[in-house]
Amino acid sequence: MKEILICGARVLRADLSTCDPADVLIEDGNIRAIEPPGRISRENVERIDATDRLLVPGLVNGHTHGHGGLGKGAVPDRVPLEVFLSASGAINGSRSVEDKRLSATLTAVELVRKGCTAAYDLYVEYPIPSREGIAAVAEGYREVGMRAVIAPMMADHTLYSALPGLMEALPPHLQERARQIEAAPYEASIASAREILHTWHYDRDLLRPALGPTIPLHCSDAFLIACARLADECDVVVQTHVAESKAQAVLGLQKYGRSLVAHLQDLGVLGPRFSAAHGIWLDGEDIARLAGAGVGVVHNPMSNLRLGSGIAPARALLEAGVRLGIGTDASNTSDGQNMFEAQRLAALLSRVADVDPERWLSVEEVFRAATQGSAEILGFDRLGRLEPNHRADIVFLDVGHINYVPLRNPLQQLVLAENGAAIDSVMIDGRFVLRGGRLLRLDEARLRRQVEAAVERLDAANAGLKAAAEPFRDLVGHFCLAHARAPFHVHRRLPDDRAPS
Ligand SMILES: [Zn+2]
Repeated sequence: MKEILICGARVLRADLSTCDPADVLIEDGNIRAIEPPGRISRENVERIDATDRLLVPGLVNGHTHGHGGLGKGAVPDRVPLEVFLSASGAINGSRSVEDKRLSATLTAVELVRKGCTAAYDLYVEYPIPSREGIAAVAEGYREVGMRAVIAPMMADHTLYSALPGLMEALPPHLQERARQIEAAPYEASIASAREILHTWHYDRDLLRPALGPTIPLHCSDAFLIACARLADECDVVVQTHVAESKAQAVLGLQKYGRSLVAHLQDLGVLGPRFSAAHGIWLDGEDIARLAGAGVGVVHNPMSNLRLGSGIAPARALLEAGVRLGIGTDASNTSDGQNMFEAQRLAALLSRVADVDPERWLSVEEVFRAATQGSAEILGFDRLGRLEPNHRADIVFLDVGHINYVPLRNPLQQLVLAENGAAIDSVMIDGRFVLRGGRLLRLDEARLRRQVEAAVERLDAANAGLKAAAEPFRDLVGHFCLAHARAPFHVHRRLPDDRAPS
């Protein structure tokens, strides 16, 4: 492959403090050298002038859902997690394989446009994952040119059989209807997931399969254990949503007699290939368990705020030695895919979680989490830093953009001021996927037409499901609110109610 020499840019190095002008030599998708300007001499090299550009590692999204792309704008204002879940069938229903690809493509386009080069995607298909469906998702990412870890998201309980007491709290006619919603037996999901893992034919440097048992309460113990075994068998990573809402944590205590994390540990499913999305309602023992098992946690501040789920104890997780990543969660509950916003929120939310500035997340900690931390959780090494022998996933920011005028402190301005608007180009695996503000590999106007046509058709097809979900909405909401109001042993991270450390 031809070598590329990027000249004239400032380069944010792995120490996150050096940001001097440098030339970057790229070969075969890898960074071969970063040297002061003019020092690398090569013939037959493609020279790229990057004057007025700041080069930073591509952001790595530790938790998203490609199926959320077509669900943008479909989640009402002021809706907590469980109410959203009660209507998710109406948002994700009736989709063809082509619709699944389209949703993943749309998600990938927004990720790239906002500076993300790799993502961990838990993609749902109902009632079980399919080889064609997950292949369509992989095609969506491939079309855009992104790296991704794609995990079929699976459950063998419905919301109504998952949450103890919810079914009984419904009036009889709704109980009857809730019982008609069926989840597939876990053996069927595992068999399909095994086929997906064993027949994966994509280049694993770019696209990898994984497993996504959706939420512990929504999965039987046998299912969770089978996922962990299959992950070991196929050497893939596993991710699930852990203690995302307070209702989940309270109902977990009720169902298991111990915390969600203690339960997962007792099942023997925690380990270095396991990661927990959200991880909000954790106590000190949970955090120690996660750290001891080598589990990664992905902080998703945007959807945690949108759904009112809470604030993850990011400082306590870092102090315990837990690998911390940052994610956006789905476009339906986060209203987009912006890893720059996620970083800024992670930095700023830590300041309302604690009055002690020493315990706030620094911009270095946030940026490391959004790059190297997430990359480790995806299972990729040599990713998330601009250094020789690392993958050439690079975001080119225009330092002439108002976000950087004046440019005084690149890392701080990157984390606390950038919103994606200054992105000029994005390179993944040594190839431009976005250049000069234009996507190189697909026609965005055509994508828009396809998305609008699909959404019009799907909204009409799902109107019945939406109407059928409506009577459950307030009942689910009140049930979960009653549990969220229950006394709970986790209070340390609430503002003004933190136990002394
Ligand atoms: Zn999620």
